[in-house]
Amino acid sequence: MTGSGKSVIVVGAGIVGVATALCLQMEGHQVTVLDPKAPGTATSFGNAGSIAIGGMYPTGSPGNLKQVPKMLLDPTSAVSVRWSYLPRMLPWFVRFFAASRPSRVAQIASELATIVPTAGAAHLALMKAHRIEGIVKPLGWLKVYSGEKSFAGTREERETIERHGANVQILNQDELRQLEPALAPHFTHGAFQPDNHFVTSPVKLTEAYAKAFTGLGGRFLAEKVTRFEFDGSRVRQVVTDLGMYEADEVVVCAGAWSGRICKMLGFSVPLDTERGYHLNIVAEGGPRLTRPVVVGDHSFVLAPMQDGIRLTSGVEFAGLDAPADFRRIRRMLPLAQKALPGLSDTVTREWLGYRPSTPDSKPVIGPAPGLSNVFLGFGHGHIGLTLAAQTGVMLADLVSGRVPETGIAAFSADRFSLSV
Ligand SMILES: Cc1cc2nc3c(=O)[nH]c(=O)nc-3n(C[C@H](O)[C@H](O)[C@H](O)COP(=O)(O)OP(=O)(O)OC[C@H]3O[C@@H](n4cnc5c(N)ncnc54)[C@H](O)[C@@H]3O)c2cc1C
Repeated sequence: MTGSGKSVIVVGAGIVGVATALCLQMEGHQVTVLDPKAPGTATSFGNAGSIAIGGMYPTGSPGNLKQVPKMLLDPTSAVSVRWSYLPRMLPWFVRFFAASRPSRVAQIASELATIVPTAGAAHLALMKAHRIEGIVKPLGWLKVYSGEKSFAGTREERETIERHGANVQILNQDELRQLEPALAPHFTHGAFQPDNHFVTSPVKLTEAYAKAFTGLGGRFLAEKVTRFEFDGSRVRQVVTDLGMYEADEVVVCAGAWSGRICKMLGFSVPLDTERGYHLNIVAEGGPRLTRPVVVGDHSFVLAPMQDGIRLTSGVEFAGLDAPADFRRIRRMLPLAQKALPGLSDTVTREWLGYRPSTPDSKPVIGPAPGLSNVFLGFGHGHIGLTLAAQTGVMLADLVSGRVPETGIAAFSADRFSLSV
């Protein structure tokens, strides 16, 4: 162990906060994590499980924008907006559209390519160091399409990620059948990313990191951060619903709730949420999938998790407080059964999660504006599971007084005050 042995408070025990706490601890710091929820039980619980090392293509792109009007009108489309929330989200959308211009997409992809390709290795190193086995498997990520048109619609994304080194294998109908025989035969085109890892139980991965962390003396407190006390440009105390704590450094990893924490710290970031749903479907006696499969025609994923087949879908713009609406994901179930014939309709869980999303699809990783002892690690959107360990490595560098090898300028919170 190296480092200067600082006391550090991490706010948030999702996969990003817990991986970060573990990385900080491995540097010799004394770390306390504050979160009223158990580790990994918010958004990090219910994702599709892919460590997506080709995930450098941003959500906002010319191709995706073209589909927006159709998506908003189609009740089975994966994207929806609660119209009552739209006025609050408009500034975010203005930035999102600006970030979707071709020149910006190319720039964002190349910036994300400085941290995404190494994200799998960062997880594997953390798992190896703490002997965590059996949860993450090298099974890849398969996208399937039922026709040339829908396949061609994602060409731009494929070409971009290939330019940044992602390994994408194009499969024909026969090759698809060989890889995933249980899929319906109407899929004609596939894009396989063999280098992605599959987390067969995302919550178990966070729990395993959390166990390693507490086993080495790390502390979890089930408390909600409510405000901060300052001493000039330093946070002097972190105040929770149950106590008050001092630390040398504070790291904010509160996922989609980080915007609220930043307001408490005296600045704002354009962070909102792309809400996403899943249904957990009984797998016993049904068709067998080996790896997560994205059905490109309808933008849903079928992932064979340890506790069932997980059907994930949806980007819903409705903020953090609106109640869940499971009707849209329920409408996906018959489409999923068409894609995977024999799939049961016995649902054992309906779940809603909150992707922490910036308008330019890049996370915020770096020092907090105007504060000398606060660092930020949030806003990972669709790739927070992927980037968790990588983010932890970068934040551990920063807290220990080093500049991360990858650089951090592209991920600074200040970028939002400079341009849209
Ligand atoms: C349907 C779906 C599918 C997805 N699939 C993938 C995928 O395949 N691969 C991938 O890489 N990513 C995927 N994602 C994205 C990924 O799940 C998220 O980016 C990631 O979980 C975010 O992790 P986090 O730790 O930042 O946030 P969270 O897991 O949400 O954790 C944030 C924590 O902060 C805590 N908190 C909030 N406020 C406070 C406070 N005041 N005080 C203390 N604690 C607080 C919360 O209680 C919570 O526990 C998917 C997301 C969804 C919704």
